[in-house]
Amino acid sequence: MTRTLTLTAPPEQVEHLGFFRFGDVGGKVVITNDAGEWTLLERPDFQALLVDTLAPEHPKRAELVDKGFLRDGADLNQIAERVARKRRFLGQGPHLHIVITTLRCNQSCKYCHASRTDMDRVDTDMSMETAKKVVDMAMQTTSPYVNFEYQGGEPTVRFDVIQFVVDYSREKNRYEGKTLEHALVTNLTYMTEDKAEWLLANDVLLCTSLDGPAVVHNFNRTWRKGGEAFDRVLHWIRYFNRRYVEMGRDPELWHVDALMTTTRKTLEHWREVIDLYVELGIRNIHLRPLNPFGFANKTWRAIGYTPQEYLDFYARALDYVLELNKQGVQIIEGTASTFLKKMLTPDDPNFVDLRNPVGSGTGQIAYNFDGNIYPSDEGRMIAATGDQLFKLGDVFTSTYDEVVNHPTVKALAVASSLDSLPSCHTCWNAPFCGVRPLHNYMQSGDLFGQRPNTPKCTEHLTIARLLMSKLANDPDVEPIFRRWTIHRPRHESS
Ligand code: SF4
Repeated sequence: MTRTLTLTAPPEQVEHLGFFRFGDVGGKVVITNDAGEWTLLERPDFQALLVDTLAPEHPKRAELVDKGFLRDGADLNQIAERVARKRRFLGQGPHLHIVITTLRCNQSCKYCHASRTDMDRVDTDMSMETAKKVVDMAMQTTSPYVNFEYQGGEPTVRFDVIQFVVDYSREKNRYEGKTLEHALVTNLTYMTEDKAEWLLANDVLLCTSLDGPAVVHNFNRTWRKGGEAFDRVLHWIRYFNRRYVEMGRDPELWHVDALMTTTRKTLEHWREVIDLYVELGIRNIHLRPLNPFGFANKTWRAIGYTPQEYLDFYARALDYVLELNKQGVQIIEGTASTFLKKMLTPDDPNFVDLRNPVGSGTGQIAYNFDGNIYPSDEGRMIAATGDQLFKLGDVFTSTYDEVVNHPTVKALAVASSLDSLPSCHTCWNAPFCGVRPLHNYMQSGDLFGQRPNTPKCTEHLTIARLLMSKLANDPDVEPIFRRWTIHRPRHESS
């Protein structure tokens, strides 16, 4: 994949130009800037822009001025405000607080990264004393919005810890006045009706893993105690979605979210995966590639694929999701939606893994079952291998200030700042991209491992190109893509 662009007449004067980066998208030149503004130009128009010969009546001129690509007539204050709005998350502090209630899990998935333990390992459960300290720490965040996310292992194995954190954080929030949300990431195979009704009554959002039809899901997500995980997951998705409707909730906002992890099996059954999501009324399918670490490293020969195979799958799946949308089916592809929020709206979705700088420690904090604190769940996984490089402290002896100002948090911010990373700083995709130093460290032992043309970089470039090309070439796509950027907060709708 090439990112070069040959200019026949390099500019001698640049004073008329605003700051921008440029590249190649579908035979046109894309120009982008830090406000997240972008446009596609024919090559002769780009040449004319550079040497300041673009005619005053050229149909692109007003847009180029408005977006700050041409200085003459541009409102610099307004452009500065747009840049500040895009980076608003920088001044907010961590909003995502991941609580590992236990490492115990009743499943043994082929790609598990979560350092799970067997069901008899009660020593990997979070104690109530630790849970209380976690809440005391998390509620000190300067972020006005706090999302407690329960993970494991299988977090519902210690349902009492979840209940305690929900109740205690709400009690504390009577004085803090933050917008508080709770989300449970569960495999749904340890669910009971009592637990389900408590989660519904307490507005705990649900996110599960659904890898596709039985042939894919049961292959990927092995259930250790026998039986078919797929049937249980479907039962509980239907149960929760039915109950939300019975409770009078808007199903567009209140439904079980599902994530899928792509394995070799998925590549064979990609259309059935999407059809299943549609059949279940799931409105967001988040296509995710396999990460080559954790158990997936050991099982890569059976479930892995090349980066190009994943991108071919992604393009096919995105086309099909768009085709369904054109037929009136409302289903969003999650990765595209994150990029589109950056490309088509004045805001950044503050998705901690695709942010500049990354959210590790500045947007999210992970609390392990034993009270140790990490900048993200990946930091906790690295610690499980015996490497405590990313430990920020613990809930018993560290202060909130020590954690968020830890030198490791600063190092991660520097290592993920696209404005200074070689090649990223000149890349046209920088306003929409993000790199993950902990991901790099897991793959290559180097925080700065993310270099152009690594699989992640290629994935991000390809997806951004795909979306821009669709917007440029198919007029029916823009209204669909704009719908994918709309975010209606659930807490205002119950
Ligand atoms: S990681 Fe790749 S796509 Fe992303 S900004 Fe850097 S060079 Fe561009």
